[in-house]
Order: sequence, then structure tokens, then C-alpha cells
Amino acid sequence: MIPAAFDYVRADSADAALAALAEHGDEAKLLAGGHSLIPLMKFRLAAPAVVVDIGRLQDLSYINDAGDHLAIGALTRFTDIETSDLVKSQTPLLAACASNVGDPQVRHRGTIGGSTAHADAASDTPSALLALRATLVAKGPDGEREIAIDDFFTGFLENSLSDTEMLTEIRVPKVPDAGWSFQKFNRRAQDWAIVGASILVNNGSTGIGLVNMGGTPVRAAAAEAAISSGGSAADAGALAADGTSPTADLNASVEYRQHLARVLTTRGLAEAGA
Ligand code: FAD
Repeated sequence: MIPAAFDYVRADSADAALAALAEHGDEAKLLAGGHSLIPLMKFRLAAPAVVVDIGRLQDLSYINDAGDHLAIGALTRFTDIETSDLVKSQTPLLAACASNVGDPQVRHRGTIGGSTAHADAASDTPSALLALRATLVAKGPDGEREIAIDDFFTGFLENSLSDTEMLTEIRVPKVPDAGWSFQKFNRRAQDWAIVGASILVNNGSTGIGLVNMGGTPVRAAAAEAAISSGGSAADAGALAADGTSPTADLNASVEYRQHLARVLTTRGLAEAGA
């Protein structure tokens, strides 16, 4: 399919991108790696009048040690995250998760900011950001604000950014000694997850983010609570699908997805040493 006609603006700075968003409001869409937006436009599920290309903003592509957390620019590609020694040593869960996104071509184009803003329940890295309890930084006409990851995903492919804001940074806590596991169940290597789970066990606190278990990336809250109150990996894993509402598709029924969530969470909790 060919996308509907649109105007193209290449932003040469974050401020220029914000100015374009301010000018065009909900008629405009940011283009980062384009690996989610372009397919949506080709299917005519999105038809922005103006596409604002931020894909070349090198100053939003970085991974910095910021004391108790890593600061990751929104335009950082998955391949830079999976190969970063800093990420591998300080938040290995995120590196492993990023290395499981699609294939090398996808990981060389796709950005962590684009994937997070896209708010797709089927995407891998939002589950790790939930498990890690990441903080997002958004910039808009009124300046910068921080958004807790739990407040970011608001509905199917929807997030809590306004039409005139963009994600600029993702902050993930440094957890070099934490237990962790990334579990992805798919038919073939490099496919999207049918179900996935990111698990982090750190100083008595457990975070579990699920892939494809609802309209948005979701936390396995009942399983997290079970671990906090002394339950075993098996006890907690048995509750992983509680409170979730996955959909059925050609790959899996609702019941099969719930079963997978329980199995993958139990396996991941055991691997993470819960
Ligand atoms: P874009 O497509 O450019 O943008 C996506 C959305 O986010 C758009 O609405 C855009 O306006 C918005 N946006 C982008 N950047 C910002 C920003 N800084 N601030 C605010 N809004 C922004 N993903 C997985 O997780 N796992 C997979 O296994 C997987 N397999 C894939 C296989 C294929 C063949 C393809 C094409 C994609 C696959 N993906 C997978 C998706 C891929 O990871 C996408 O690249 C990613 O989800 C979106 O990132 P992007 O940079 O391409 O965003």
C-alpha cells in the first residue's frame, strides 16, 4: 500500500521538531526509525498531514552514566543499546531485551524512544522499562517533565504525551547486581513475541513487565505482589495472567496467552533468582 500524501519536514534539532509540532498539532507525527509509523501509514491506519523527521538528531542518540541511572537518548537505536558495555554491565535486562527486537536491520533503524512512544503491547523493550521502573523525559512548549513509566501507556497505541511534546530521554536505574531474565516466546527467531516477560529482582523488589498481554504494555502486578509477600517463583508465576486482558489472534487464543504468561514468568523468576 502507498501512504496518503503528506508534507515532509526534516528537523535539524529537537527545538525545530518541537516548533513543527507546535505549528501543526495533531496533524503532525514524528518520524524516528520509521519501523512502526511507516507500516501504519502504508496500511492507512495513520495519515498524518505532516511528518516531522527526527531520525538524524544525533544529540538525542546517547547512553550516559548519570550516577544512579543511565540516561538514554530517545533516538538511540536498539543496536547501540544491545552492544553498549554500559548497558550490558548496569542494566543487562535492557541489553538482552533490545537484542531480541526483530532482526539486525530493525535494530539498526528502530529507536527506544519510538518504540516506547508507539506504546505497542507487542513491543519488547516497554516490558523491560516496566520491570526496571524507568522514568521518561518529555519536552514540550512548557519545558521538560518526567513521566513514570507506569503513567505513560494510556491505551491501544496511545501514550500520555500531548500533541506538542516529544520524548527526549529514558532513564533506567543502574542495577548491576540484580537478578534478571528476558523471556520471549515466538514461533521463529526474530519474530514478534506471542508473549514475553521481562523480570528484574533487585534488593527485595521485583518488577515484571509483560509483552502482548493487553491493549498496552502491562505489569504482572499480582505476581509482583506474591513475590513481595514471600511467595515462590511458582506461586507468583501462577498469578502472572491475573488482571491482564490479552486478545486472541492467528498465533494464540486468550487462554494460550495466559498460559504462556504464567509459564514464562515462572521460568523467568526462577532464572532471576526470585
Ligand atoms: P517510528 O516508527 O519512527 O515511530 C513510532 C511512533 O512513535 C510514531 O507514532 C512516532 O510519531 C512516535 N515517536 C517516535 N519517536 C518519538 C519521540 N522521540 N517522541 C515522541 N513520539 C515519538 N519491535 C519489537 O519490540 N519486537 C520485535 O520483534 C519487532 N519486530 C519488528 C519486525 C519488523 C519487520 C519491523 C518493521 C518492526 C519490528 N518491531 C519490533 C518494531 C520496531 O522495533 C520499531 O522500530 C519500533 O517499535 C518503533 O521505533 P521507531 O524508531 O521505528 O519509531
